[in-house]
Amino acid sequence: MRHNRSQRGSTRSHHALKGIALTKCPDCNNPVMRHQACSNCGKYRGKVIINLEKKTKAVKATKTPKKSEKKA
Ligand SMILES: [Zn+2]
Repeated sequence: MRHNRSQRGSTRSHHALKGIALTKCPDCNNPVMRHQACSNCGKYRGKVIINLEKKTKAVKATKTPKKSEKKA
């Protein structure tokens, strides 16, 4: 049976999306998404998953030769 506008609206009043559930990283207190490694320290459940120091060095190394290639 067809719902009227009021019934449709009252049903959809519960369909709004809720905000992302964030927790704090136990190591650095940075807000982190559940079940994902911390973007600040690269740790998940106390273990280092992403080595952020290596990544930043690699980015710097790749950036510098590109500039020299453009000039030459
Ligand atoms: Zn962290």
